[in-house]
Amino acid sequence: SKLAYSEPHYPSPWMNPKAVGWEEAHAKARDFVSQLTLAEKVNLTTGIGWESGQCVGESGSVPRLGLRQLCMQDSPLGIRFGDFASAFTSGQTVAASFDRTLMYRRGKAMGEEHKGKGVNVILGPVAGPLGRTPEGGRNWEGFSPDPYLTGVGMSETVKGIQDAGVVACAKHYILNEQEHFRQVGESTGRGYNISETLSSNIDDKTMHELYLWPFADAVRAGVGAVMCSYQQINNSYGCQNSKTLNGYLKGELGFQGFVMSDWQAQHTGVASAVAGMDMSMPGDTEFQSGLSFWGTNLTVAVLNGTVPAYRIDDMAMRIMAAFFKVGQTVEGLEPINMDSWTSDTYGYLHAGVQEGFQQVNWHVDVQGDHGNLIREIAGKSTVLLKNDGALPLKKPKFLAVIGEDAGPNPLGPNGCADRGCNRGTLAMSWGSGTANFPYLSTPLEALNQKAIDDHTRLEAVLDNYATDTIESLVKQDGATALVFVNANAGEGYISVDGNEGDRNNLTLWGNGDELIKTVSSLCNNTIVVIHSVGPTLVTDWYDSPNVTAILWAGLPGQESGRSIVDVLYGKVNPAARSPFTWAAKREDYGAEVLYTPNNGNDAPQQDYTEGIFIDYRAVDKAEIKPIFEFGFGLSYTSFKYADIQVEKTNAGPYKPTTGKTTKAPTFGNFSKNIEDYIFPSSIRYIREFIYPYLNTTSSLEEASADPKYGRTAEEFLPPGALDSEAQDLQPAAPALTDAPGGNRLLWDELYIVTAKITNTGDVVGDEVPQLYVSLGGPDDPPVVLRGFDRIRIESGQTVTFRAPITRRDLSNWDTVSQDWVVSKYPKTAFVGPSSRNLPLEAELS
Ligand code: BGC
Ligand code: BGC
Repeated sequence: SKLAYSEPHYPSPWMNPKAVGWEEAHAKARDFVSQLTLAEKVNLTTGIGWESGQCVGESGSVPRLGLRQLCMQDSPLGIRFGDFASAFTSGQTVAASFDRTLMYRRGKAMGEEHKGKGVNVILGPVAGPLGRTPEGGRNWEGFSPDPYLTGVGMSETVKGIQDAGVVACAKHYILNEQEHFRQVGESTGRGYNISETLSSNIDDKTMHELYLWPFADAVRAGVGAVMCSYQQINNSYGCQNSKTLNGYLKGELGFQGFVMSDWQAQHTGVASAVAGMDMSMPGDTEFQSGLSFWGTNLTVAVLNGTVPAYRIDDMAMRIMAAFFKVGQTVEGLEPINMDSWTSDTYGYLHAGVQEGFQQVNWHVDVQGDHGNLIREIAGKSTVLLKNDGALPLKKPKFLAVIGEDAGPNPLGPNGCADRGCNRGTLAMSWGSGTANFPYLSTPLEALNQKAIDDHTRLEAVLDNYATDTIESLVKQDGATALVFVNANAGEGYISVDGNEGDRNNLTLWGNGDELIKTVSSLCNNTIVVIHSVGPTLVTDWYDSPNVTAILWAGLPGQESGRSIVDVLYGKVNPAARSPFTWAAKREDYGAEVLYTPNNGNDAPQQDYTEGIFIDYRAVDKAEIKPIFEFGFGLSYTSFKYADIQVEKTNAGPYKPTTGKTTKAPTFGNFSKNIEDYIFPSSIRYIREFIYPYLNTTSSLEEASADPKYGRTAEEFLPPGALDSEAQDLQPAAPALTDAPGGNRLLWDELYIVTAKITNTGDVVGDEVPQLYVSLGGPDDPPVVLRGFDRIRIESGQTVTFRAPITRRDLSNWDTVSQDWVVSKYPKTAFVGPSSRNLPLEAELS
């Protein structure tokens, strides 16, 4: 059968000097880049190699103009390998807060910490994976399988990070929805015999309405960098896919920043350059190979004309524009004061080859008051899924705290490298998306402190398998049992308990479901706290009358204990909402991880046949009742919804963008004399370090060491790859004088929906009103989330919820016109406290 095919899209769009929000950055970049030699430009585009510098990735430097290496550092929830830095609540967990301000403050705080260490680019936030399957190993690094909620998470996080003066990097672009088969080496290492990575096969409509959506929000928020992903999209690698990079990202969305490769996600030199990649990370072909697809080879390719001069200029422009956009300056750059490869004060500057012994860590404390912020975020992100009146706790007489997940990891909070194990309480999952805990407040420790204050009898059993001891404790009179359970997942290079990144199933880890059943069979006041990376199957026990409350606390970060105590005891009145669906059965989710290769030794093929129907869109379409629906969460008070009003604005009509770009500009000249590129005698050669220079001037062919050297661009590049003429703007793209993100008119507000919400209970609380829309067509989901707010409401008080509906919110992607269209089908707005509890509705006419 014919494999899914990715259409070519060339040439690679160049920056637009008038793009709104980027004008000043563009001008500064132009002044800087115009002074550079070709070798210096190449240096900006190519990392110096794995473990060649202090950060997980570093670009080359331009010492002549005073620019040091740019530092790219994980992660989306803190500083990977950082010391005296904070371990924040995960992206997925903060999504549950449905609180824009909190998302922004989290981003800003992370930005400040990275800035304090000398980091230039944070490798986050994450919108890929979006969460096609609940088992996806890295879903917790991102926000939610709902694109609107993830879009808000991306936008707020990007703004927060960049307002702190650090470039954000939206990743992993795009369709990196599972860990299995994302990399060949990783897969063959596990015994899967494949020669190419997984191909995520998707249609144009699903791409736009689901997976590209949150990246568009990141671009609109001004994100400076995007990381292209490991796997293939329609059988073309993420970092050389001209359709996704040139076509969607830089063309349709008008992205002005730079595209960096994921670590070892680059597979070609010239092809990835013309397909729209701008920076090779970490720069070497494979970690520490000393070889690069770019570096010297990019210099050669520009000299022989296979990569057009405008393209290398555009790469350098994009990198420097992102740098200037967030307020960084060449003169003002602090030195990088941390190191990823040792926590010692002194170490090797080039750790991989053990060269350059010097001070590499200054142990700068960048935490500020972020511990309290994290406590607030984690509390406000904890979802109350069930409460039969057991919560909030009021000076309980006798608490039995059960489960390994309540206590510490015996190896210490950072005892497992990149958190690659599941021991003790789960406050962060595993992989590159981690940070070192500065400390970890465990639930048991915080509960114990409270018990001391309250004269509560508290006994804990942390061994999930100590059944006899647990039974004899929880069956005692008057016991309130708090059972802590978890389910973990992470990045594919680490396998934990046989889970190769992606979860193998949706059950709780460590016998958790049995533990809950055991305890609740003996104790009629069993409260369950789940720490997890997504939904688990609660079907067997959730509706037992003895299970009196259930909380989902996600991955709370360093303040796990204090934040759960805040919620359990009512200091924080819960308002968070589940950012995903809790289905009764695994099958209800539809889309599944591909766990075994299905295409011989060739690239495994993952067809996104479910289209846009993932998570709540899947169960809603199939009319399956989930146990806890998307957007669901309880409070210690109650709310009443009334009086929906729809106001139609007088927004003008939509106009597809027309017109053309400028011709491709070049910045400065470069010498065609091969002698000028010889490795300078003034530089000490470091093994495995990636340079832009040639080590011979006898010929470009010899300098390249490419066995296929000599083919012309016309012979191996797709038509149009070198074109420098003005190009047509796409209909859905921003016009030349607009901001990036897409056609400006997509953000026109067409309707304003309002509703009245009253706190009908006895205590003050936050409420999260949600706006859903039915687009009305036969292929549309019953409802899609299109607005929300989080509002504090005093007991007895009534407030007005207000949500604008933009044109984009009401549009479908039309594959024929390649544009967004508002269909002729009647549209309805719904307002309520969850995706399945929508008491208010009104026609949008
Ligand atoms: C991950 C990225 C990460 C990079 C650097 C990759 O394997 O996919 O998310 O930023 O490594 O650590
Ligand atoms: C590195 C990660 C990277 C991964 C890629 C690991 O060895 O520590 O940063 O994400 O390799 O496979």
